[in-house]
Amino acid sequence: MHKTIIVGTGPAGLTAAIYLARANLAPLVLEGPQPGGQLTTTTEVENFPGFPDGIMGPDLMNNMRRQAERFGAVFKTGWVNSIELGQRPFVLDVEGIGRLEAETVILSTGASAKYLGIPGEKENVGRGVSTCATCDGFFFRGKRIIVIGGGDSAMEEAAFLTRFASEVRVVHRREELRASKIMQERARANDKIVWSLNRTPLEVVTGDHGVTGLKVLNNSTGEEELLEADGIFVAIGHTPNTGF
Ligand code: NAP
Repeated sequence: MHKTIIVGTGPAGLTAAIYLARANLAPLVLEGPQPGGQLTTTTEVENFPGFPDGIMGPDLMNNMRRQAERFGAVFKTGWVNSIELGQRPFVLDVEGIGRLEAETVILSTGASAKYLGIPGEKENVGRGVSTCATCDGFFFRGKRIIVIGGGDSAMEEAAFLTRFASEVRVVHRREELRASKIMQERARANDKIVWSLNRTPLEVVTGDHGVTGLKVLNNSTGEEELLEADGIFVAIGHTPNTGF
């Protein structure tokens, strides 16, 4: 029986671990398949407060882990299959560990960006395809960017990317946007944003130096079109990692 079990070791989970350990709540921290979370897949992190010269993502997460361990947080590797929250204590079934009981469970499993599943997409992540404008927009200074999606995320990413890009083209599979009116209006008022609506993405097209465009189906004419771009940001939403 544990006082607290934290599921997930990104910044949220490790912050919880530091505070709970210092409150003598003896947290057990469960690490999944990617200890340290998404920041361990990035290189330099320039915008984390307290690091004026930047810090590498894996180093930052390693520091947080050591800080939690220093106050007594215990780490174990295990994949959570299921959690029973309808009774107390809560019961976790953890692959590689077995059955665990806890008075408190903190779920800090983050979310995963959704992908379209079209050819050329996954294999070019980090080579012109991205799901995070704030992470990667900087690399597209003066370049043409396509943002895929018609929701608030797409509007927000498109607006943010106009700081760097020469042109941001929003590609959406329907004529109407899903985004809230205020976000739509802001995006439509932005001179740098152009629109390719009613187009279904078919394929990410690449050349010798990475992404060169997006092949789409024009749903009004039934014809295929090639939209040229140096970068493609997929902004069709996120799935919380709470499948269990
Ligand atoms: P969302 O509202 O679900 O929008 C996803 C968009 O991607 C939709 O336009 C959808 O098209 C499109 N899409 C989904 N799957 C696709 C596919 N396979 N191929 C092509 N297009 C696809 O997700 P979200 O934009 O991430 O927003 C999620 C929630 O967060 C919303 O409640 C939103 O208001 C909120 N949010 C708010 C802000 C803000 O206010 N600053 C910013 C971001 C998010 P269809 O429209 O045709 O389904």
